[in-house]
Amino acid sequence: MRGSDGTPPADALSRLAAAGYVAPHWPKPWGLDASPPEQVAIDALLRDSGIARPVNPIGLGWAGPTLLVAGTEEQRRRWLPGILDGTELWCQLFSEPGAGSDLASLSTRAERDGDTFVVNGQKIWTTYAEGARFGILLARTDPDATKHQGISYFVLDMSTPGIERRPIRQMTGGADFNEVFFTDVRIPADHLVGEEHNGWRLAKVTLGNERVSLSGEGALWGMGPTAHDLLDVVRAHGGVGDATIRQQLADLYIEAEVLRLIRLRTVSAQMRGLEPGPEASVRKAISDEHGQKVFAAALALAGTYGMLLDAGPFADPGTLWTAGFLFSPALTIGGGTAEVQRNIIGERVLGLPRDASG
Ligand SMILES: Cc1cc2nc3c(=O)[nH]c(=O)nc-3n(C[C@H](O)[C@H](O)[C@H](O)COP(=O)(O)OP(=O)(O)OC[C@H]3O[C@@H](n4cnc5c(N)ncnc54)[C@H](O)[C@@H]3O)c2cc1C
Repeated sequence: MRGSDGTPPADALSRLAAAGYVAPHWPKPWGLDASPPEQVAIDALLRDSGIARPVNPIGLGWAGPTLLVAGTEEQRRRWLPGILDGTELWCQLFSEPGAGSDLASLSTRAERDGDTFVVNGQKIWTTYAEGARFGILLARTDPDATKHQGISYFVLDMSTPGIERRPIRQMTGGADFNEVFFTDVRIPADHLVGEEHNGWRLAKVTLGNERVSLSGEGALWGMGPTAHDLLDVVRAHGGVGDATIRQQLADLYIEAEVLRLIRLRTVSAQMRGLEPGPEASVRKAISDEHGQKVFAAALALAGTYGMLLDAGPFADPGTLWTAGFLFSPALTIGGGTAEVQRNIIGERVLGLPRDASG
């Protein structure tokens, strides 16, 4: 179910969305109200049939669930269909040059002017801003309120005049992120999600979903190759004689198994109707560093081939080892840095005193 460029054809995606299979855990009519065992069964069926869901991670993983929690019926009807069938790509306009881990320090302003809000300020690291049709935007609507108050949550039409995007070139060679500048950008008041000044509560809903969605099986936030794929490549090329590297590979195998078991634990908790708990942070903390180790080992094994993009024994088309290695430093930054995950684990799992800056 993929076109010549590797993406599924649009009519197939709209049928998949209409059937409720894109997000089966969402309530009807958007999903199927599917229970966790039903979701696992649908996922397995789609995987075994080679059927891919639309690529719209921010829409499906973060914007959609937040609209389901706090959007009006009209907002859901306007935006959820395009998220589900992938015809409208979404981006997330949260981070700013002065507000990353400490997101509540954000200073982009949205001032009310009759039926619109006028936005001025800057965002950074906005993945997909170039192609996105809509963005979820956090902006300060009451500058006199305390840090966590006075923030509002908007949906921004990315074709609105006054938005300037500047791509940021990464060491992978790609430019997936952007700086985004707003000059007197007008957002209709009915694009406000939830109550005015109460956006921090919704930001936490979005960020909670982000931690869970960035924790799948592959070594690149749930995508891309796994430690098992690396071992397959090694086996296919006659194994490794060096005892130190063999030990390193054994450690990666063990870590991958531990991660698989933590993931099963999360799925089993969900099947018992429990919300993902702090183990989502434990898993993210381990899996991000695991991903970096998998790619570092692959590059070390590739030897001088590692200087080329996907060449030599590591030229398996499904596993982008060199590109993955170049992207892997991002793993311990995006979706909450390694240090911030440890703060969460310290506070919520170990019961240590709160981070002084929190
Ligand atoms: C691949 C990728 C995609 C991204 N996509 C998006 C996107 O689409 N939209 C978006 O809005 N943002 C996006 N981001 C930005 C991301 O959310 C931020 O980079 C992240 O929150 C960290 O913020 P920062 O870069 O400002 O670092 P800072 O917060 O300035 O942190 C700098 C260093 O200080 C440490 N630090 C900060 N606070 C503490 C603390 N309290 N305790 C201990 N250590 C601390 C950090 O761990 C880090 O090492 C993306 C980032 C990456 C890497």
